[in-house]
Amino acid sequence: MNGASAHHRVVVIGGGNGGISVAARLRNAGVDDIAIVEPREEHLYKPLFSHVAGGTAPGSITVRPQRDVMPKGVEWIQDAVASVQPDSDAVVLEGGDRLTYDQLIVCPGIQLDWDRVPGLVEAMQTPAAASHYELELAKKASSLLRDLKEGTVVFTQPDGPASCAGAAQKPMYQACDYWRATGVLDALRVIMVVPTPTVFLEPFDRELERKIAEYGIELRTRSVLLRVDAAGQEVVLGGPNGPEHVHYDVLNVEPPQSAPDWLKASSLAVPGVSGGFVEVDPRTLRHPRFANVWALGDAAATTNSKCGGALRKQTWVVSKNVKRALRGKEPSARYDGYAVCPFTVSRSTVVWAEFDDQGRQKPTIPFYKRMYRESRLSWVFDRHVLPWVYWHLILTGRV
Ligand SMILES: Cc1cc2nc3c(=O)[nH]c(=O)nc-3n(C[C@H](O)[C@H](O)[C@H](O)COP(=O)(O)OP(=O)(O)OC[C@H]3O[C@@H](n4cnc5c(N)ncnc54)[C@H](O)[C@@H]3O)c2cc1C
Repeated sequence: MNGASAHHRVVVIGGGNGGISVAARLRNAGVDDIAIVEPREEHLYKPLFSHVAGGTAPGSITVRPQRDVMPKGVEWIQDAVASVQPDSDAVVLEGGDRLTYDQLIVCPGIQLDWDRVPGLVEAMQTPAAASHYELELAKKASSLLRDLKEGTVVFTQPDGPASCAGAAQKPMYQACDYWRATGVLDALRVIMVVPTPTVFLEPFDRELERKIAEYGIELRTRSVLLRVDAAGQEVVLGGPNGPEHVHYDVLNVEPPQSAPDWLKASSLAVPGVSGGFVEVDPRTLRHPRFANVWALGDAAATTNSKCGGALRKQTWVVSKNVKRALRGKEPSARYDGYAVCPFTVSRSTVVWAEFDDQGRQKPTIPFYKRMYRESRLSWVFDRHVLPWVYWHLILTGRV
């Protein structure tokens, strides 16, 4: 098939959370001739990676075969997009094939830029460093955090756009809860590094600060990981008081992130802005310069905090608007900027932070503004109910 050409009414780039859900919604609405380009054999439910690192879920339940989640009636093209040519309504695949489309939906996720922090790539190959942003490293984090009995552990969140940025904190609280239960918390120095002026966002800070005080965590705000000395197990942190050198016994990193390199190089990216995410109207999710191109999820230059919770609404908006576009109509559905970050603040409770792109609280249950308070019910929902909802309702386009 190398060098072959094919046409589809709808081409979806990426069969992750966004791509599978939006394609399923379109199929449910009766749209045919949809193709998803997705290279991976396995589909990942990433929100559970934090639980894997925090020791409250096995890695195996985060993975299912990609073929099992492909919506019926949708063609799976197992390849990766190498470039897009929106002027000629075409994408070129790494295998050499070319696809043309009536409508293009772009959702290839975000790229983990490990090499942006000097020494980080090397550190990940040592026994002392891990990250819950990749499944194998999340499993490594789980045993590192479980076996630590004394010393210093550093958790870091990068500056700039990231997938569920606040997830950097989640395994930390779970580990602290475990260390407290096993009597070693007092022998540990726990440092959390965040780029923001406060721990997260004003409506939820007090709830998180209470847990930070309870566990004795040292919080470094307006700070970032500058470099790692992998052999010497030392990090250099940049913050308001200048560089700080810290020896670590365990390091858990949320790596810097940006759009995939091939997207950055494309004409779909926001011109003149670094990051390379796909330019879209933040409400209709349509590209402002290419009217038959749509983007959603982590790869879109939307104004919300990037997360799966946002996609539940974005996939609805894009499916409605693409369906209208296929009939020659203008988009009518609008995304409201909703995002969610469930903070696992212990091994049995969650702070359920729901907010919009202005940083205001946006509870799913209207008027229940106290829903963000630490609760056992939110834990049950995040750990047990949501994964089921993801595999059975979200990926099938039903919610
Ligand atoms: C550790 C962690 C914890 C998280 N916790 C939460 C949480 O608690 N709640 C929440 O709402 N969200 C959470 N998220 C965020 C959530 O997982 C993402 O926002 C969501 O997966 C984004 O979906 P997406 O479809 O944009 O990208 P993805 O789900 O990443 O899917 C992108 C797909 O595109 C494919 N792809 C990549 N390149 C190409 C190419 N060139 N051609 C074709 N296909 C390609 C990839 O293989 C992948 O399958 C978390 C994320 C992480 C990493």
